[in-house]
Amino acid sequence: MLKVSTVRAFADNFIWLIHSPMDARTVVAVDPGDAAPVEAALLKHGLKLAGILLTHRHADHVGGVEQLSQGRTLKIFGPRAEKVPGETQPVGESDVVTFESLGLSFRVLDIPGHTLGHIAFVGHGAVFCGDTLFSAGCGRVFEGTPEQMSQSLAKLASLDEDTLVYCGHEYTVNNLHFALAVEPDNAASVEYLEQCRGLRTRDEATVPSTIRRERNVNPFLRCHLQTVKQAAEGKAARRLQNTVEVFAVIRQWKDGFTA
Ligand SMILES: [Zn+2]
Repeated sequence: MLKVSTVRAFADNFIWLIHSPMDARTVVAVDPGDAAPVEAALLKHGLKLAGILLTHRHADHVGGVEQLSQGRTLKIFGPRAEKVPGETQPVGESDVVTFESLGLSFRVLDIPGHTLGHIAFVGHGAVFCGDTLFSAGCGRVFEGTPEQMSQSLAKLASLDEDTLVYCGHEYTVNNLHFALAVEPDNAASVEYLEQCRGLRTRDEATVPSTIRRERNVNPFLRCHLQTVKQAAEGKAARRLQNTVEVFAVIRQWKDGFTA
């Protein structure tokens, strides 16, 4: 299984360090929004940075790229449809990103919605999905349409259920409060909230999740179910015709939700 280290940045960002299966001291960073905590982690654990993967152009995901590039030769991959800093190799749907000497390779998925060019990296039993899929939630639809976002989430939900989900933020507990507002009787969410509260009390990360778990607790992946549809119709006070309409209503509901 892939070894991945967690680096915290800002209030609740995750920067992931993917260790080479061939040399555990060499890593690839995912979404380094801030260089300082990455440099600190490299120094502390005696690691060498060999590359960077970028899911989308927001500053809290790319802000550290230029500083980390100084004095290093890095292979940097980022979304073809967005302008990101550094000497980035642009990639998109079905491209394969390979770090040959590290034994690492990832398939790229286009997952527009949060931003129009947002991509995910899938490989070695893991998905790095930035701000599209969160544990028990999803990113705000800033640039795309609810239809695009809902298709992108469906694409991620169709990955193997054992796939580990490495997302961009620690939002799980708040997301679960919302998930339980939508589906109060979802026992999996009740249990998961209890578990995540325990982790957060000890200042431990709730991520990675798995696709299996997200299918069971994440209301944004469950818009096809009667429970979620009925809650959305109650909120909207009208009949909803399809899963995209259900998604749009619960996404808007979440935007104004405070736990
Ligand atoms: Zn973002």
